[in-house]
Amino acid sequence: MRRPLPSLATSFVLLLILSLALSAQLKQDAPPASPILGFTPLHAAAEHELENQFQSIPSAERAREWHRTFTAEPHPAASERNNQLANFVADEWHKQGWEDVTLRRYDVLHSRARSVSLEMIAPVQFTASLREDAYDVDPDTKNPAVSGAYFGYSASGDVTAELVYAHSGNPEDYDLLRKNGISIKGKIVLVRYSNPYSYRGFKALTAEREGAAALLIYSDPAEDGSTRGKVFPDGPWGPESHIQRGAITYDYIVPGDPTTPGWASVPGAKHIAPEEARSLPKIPALPLSWRDAKPLLESMNGPEAPKDWQGALPITYRLTGAVKVHVKIDMDTSMQPYTVVEARIRGSELPDEWVLLGNHRDAWVYGGVDPSSGTASMMELTRSLGELKQRGIRPRRTVVVCSWDGEEYALTGSTEWGEQFADDLKKNLVAYLNVDESVAGAATTAGPEGLSFSASAVASLAPMLVEASKDIRAPSGKSLYEAWRATAMRDSKASSPPPDSALVETRIGSGSDHTVFLNHLGRPVINLGFTGDYGVYHSMYDDHYWMANIGDPSFEYHIALTRIWGVAALRLANADLLPFDFGFNAAALEQFLRELEQKNKIESRRLSLKRLHTRIAEFEKAGGALRDTVARDVLSATASPGKVQHLNEQLLQVESNWLDSAGIPGRPWFQHLLYSSRYTYAHLEFPGLTEAVEKQNWKLAGEQAMLLEKAVERNTRLLKSANSSWGGNK
Ligand SMILES: [Zn+2]
Repeated sequence: MRRPLPSLATSFVLLLILSLALSAQLKQDAPPASPILGFTPLHAAAEHELENQFQSIPSAERAREWHRTFTAEPHPAASERNNQLANFVADEWHKQGWEDVTLRRYDVLHSRARSVSLEMIAPVQFTASLREDAYDVDPDTKNPAVSGAYFGYSASGDVTAELVYAHSGNPEDYDLLRKNGISIKGKIVLVRYSNPYSYRGFKALTAEREGAAALLIYSDPAEDGSTRGKVFPDGPWGPESHIQRGAITYDYIVPGDPTTPGWASVPGAKHIAPEEARSLPKIPALPLSWRDAKPLLESMNGPEAPKDWQGALPITYRLTGAVKVHVKIDMDTSMQPYTVVEARIRGSELPDEWVLLGNHRDAWVYGGVDPSSGTASMMELTRSLGELKQRGIRPRRTVVVCSWDGEEYALTGSTEWGEQFADDLKKNLVAYLNVDESVAGAATTAGPEGLSFSASAVASLAPMLVEASKDIRAPSGKSLYEAWRATAMRDSKASSPPPDSALVETRIGSGSDHTVFLNHLGRPVINLGFTGDYGVYHSMYDDHYWMANIGDPSFEYHIALTRIWGVAALRLANADLLPFDFGFNAAALEQFLRELEQKNKIESRRLSLKRLHTRIAEFEKAGGALRDTVARDVLSATASPGKVQHLNEQLLQVESNWLDSAGIPGRPWFQHLLYSSRYTYAHLEFPGLTEAVEKQNWKLAGEQAMLLEKAVERNTRLLKSANSSWGGNK
């Protein structure tokens, strides 16, 4: 699965303030050797030395070999191949020197297609192939094990009905149809994937709510095909027969096994009946290539669709008329075992504090980008950390790594694992560093600046990530930091690079395995990857040929990602003081709040957010004061380790304090007060407050604002007490 593309922050004044805050912090107390956030000068020198050793280990050729192994066969969740790969990962981690290698099994409600068919029965007869074409240059495209078109967790059904085109299938599209007097009750709806982007599971829920009998989602060449550039096998974009498979689970309501909402599907666990599951769609749905969708679209003869609904096919897109189709979907929905592979390198000094790394293993087909690029980067990372351990170098804190299963279905493996170990994770987890797709772009079409580096993180960890990027070399030859600035400037079409404070995306949506750790357990998360031209997502063409010839032929991006992932993990694992920056965190919260006010034009007689602004300003001041004290006293190497450790515990508590065990209104599983995702998977800040404001439910909005005030106040108190115990200013 994949997150929607992040947007660059837009408010320049605020960015400037943020950037000054950040640069002031980076400049402070700089000893001659290059400092590292959270390290005493002595330990920073040792850390640099260790990171140099680490960075010399990953090999592009090894990454290529891992990639070939993981993409050799289709490996969707619950397939024999994916289960074999679980054993393979466990064996390799064992050989690499990792400890406590364990296979965790979950029995979950799975979904796969037994048979699917789609025919047009009027005005002309047409049978959709629901298959992708083979190409001689890429023998993997001829493998009979490749599946046809289907959606995970589609309902079964046999429907014959009139076809309606509903653009992107978002609520406003149905409003427009209604305005044109077109009802879709009992009809089959055809929508396209993007324009604007929304998660396919949101399109399914919307169609279900509108009363459609079935849903078809196709890939228009305007979005991921020939309109964008050369198509596979000559370029990165999707050819005419490519099909974007995927799940349509309502996992934005509750992720994981739909029949164990909020608890782990360990063997023997209680399961609710599928009919009671809030995250299971009730509508039959099918993905289509544009080659299969075109005959349907061009046979319509009703009113012309509006201009911005017209796609890139050489036809006139119409809303309705003359087309009748027959969809038949038979899904096998049964309990299947999923396997999460887990291993650790025990910390030498603080074994009960964990830094967690993870990537999912299951793919819709071969997973060339999604997820096996990330898997190849991860296997080079575990090999490198294992090698350091063989040289006698252990991290201070424990590093845990997981190979997740069933991410593509409902973020299932990570969710079940997170629910199983919730109590330990809430206590012990310093941060989770997720990589889903490490290289989701084509280096061959990226131009001289190369692929874009894309990182998202909770705001408190953004400064440490920017700092770490300065010590990594990007494939373009520049430092990753310089490459990041250059590609961010290029992508936003700006005339100067963004300030450091805008490099990390601090607005975090859902759509990958970080979700349980952030939204359910209140732990800080980071997501990393390279992005660029990529139009074969979840199709058969997302394979080794694509990566080795179009995406990353040198595999240098794979190991650049291994390096930044590893250096960030090592800094979190080895820091004297955990490198959380709450002054920066507060500045980001202030920006989120202003955006909420501007977008919704809130009148103060309806809802006053003045107190929340004040609380955030106090939090920012306390965060800044603690940052000063830390730089002056804590990292001066005279502090007692016991006292430093107590401060670390307080810093971790700040992140925990954002959790509200009641959850956000209507979605109790999502417990983070600052972050959630919209039903489209888009990021959503202050979720309870924002959703109440958008519904103009001012009473609920007032209650949600008060919850936030209390949480911010709690954290200000905590930072002040931490600061005063060091003799800093209150
Ligand atoms: Zn993925």
